[in-house]
Amino acid sequence: MMKETIRTMTSPVGLNSAPQHPYLIIQCYSCGKLLLARSGQKTKLCTYCNTRLNIFRVRVLARAPTAKAASRIVIALKDRPDKRLD
Ligand SMILES: [Zn+2]
Repeated sequence: MMKETIRTMTSPVGLNSAPQHPYLIIQCYSCGKLLLARSGQKTKLCTYCNTRLNIFRVRVLARAPTAKAASRIVIALKDRPDKRLD
């Protein structure tokens, strides 16, 4: 009987091109509100103040694998009393 060697735990983290957490929780640098963005996006229009945000310039507060998880994180971050606006 042939014994197969299956490598399941050897895939290096970070070399795979598919992002595991494509949803970004970002903070608008104009009004300070929290927004969701996809990691493939270059810009994001703030729904609160209509500022076009450069994804590479905004502060990424968290990442999430799904939109549902992302919105949960947004709610949790909003509840934090120590959140400060820059
Ligand atoms: Zn804004």
